[in-house]
Amino acid sequence: MENIAQQVSTIEMVRSGAWIAPGLRHGFFGRTGGVSRDRFATLNLAGHNDDDPAAVAENWRRAIAEIGPARTIVRLHQVHGTEIHLLDGRYDGARLTGDGAIATIPGITVGVFTADCVPLLMIDPQQRIAGAFHAGWRGTLAGIAASAVKLMVAAGANRDRMRALIGPAIGQCCYEVDEELGVRFGQRYRFASACLRPGKPGKLMLDLRGVINAQLIEAGMNCASIELVGPCTRCAADRFFSRRAAQGPCGLQFSFVGFDDGSSA
Ligand SMILES: [Zn+2]
Repeated sequence: MENIAQQVSTIEMVRSGAWIAPGLRHGFFGRTGGVSRDRFATLNLAGHNDDDPAAVAENWRRAIAEIGPARTIVRLHQVHGTEIHLLDGRYDGARLTGDGAIATIPGITVGVFTADCVPLLMIDPQQRIAGAFHAGWRGTLAGIAASAVKLMVAAGANRDRMRALIGPAIGQCCYEVDEELGVRFGQRYRFASACLRPGKPGKLMLDLRGVINAQLIEAGMNCASIELVGPCTRCAADRFFSRRAAQGPCGLQFSFVGFDDGSSA
């Protein structure tokens, strides 16, 4: 028994120490503490790849024990777009296509899958509204962070009270993009040049999390209410899934946020 216990790595989760509110649950899972193997090792929570479904089911059992008593956990079919779903008591648990979800009532936990892309979580701790958003370069270029702010406000969140948490994602240290893509960012966002630096010939190093941070501020959020947590996923590929480190398909980690509705406490 003792040997088995030693072999079981624990689930590592990144959280913000400042995100404390009644009933609030949030976190960014890493890749440790699950049972999947090879490129999905170990806490792969995505069921739509070639991983063993039994392993994914066991990983989810472990993840749910960490997430806590949520009535509903929303998992999206993500498509690198900007569609964001507003969910209330009428939500029936269906898997929705889109790259963001906002729970406008407690009892629903929203989440996104990533492996280098940016997981963005947002809350209004007083209104108990929670959003989770997925932003790769496509979604970032298309402005999903600004849409997220707008829709959080439309759902009843107060812009001055809202908080944003930008989680583990590929850092500028490792995110090489074609110069042409960097130029597109520069044309679209005046602050983008501060998030780009030269790389190899024809390449630029893009700070995706920096762009999203600037987009949130431009959308009216107070910079003091935005926090970046966790390392570069490619640098820390032993702790987080990284598509670039894997050089191909790999497992996906899950990031989540929601408020308890009190009925299960
Ligand atoms: Zn890095």
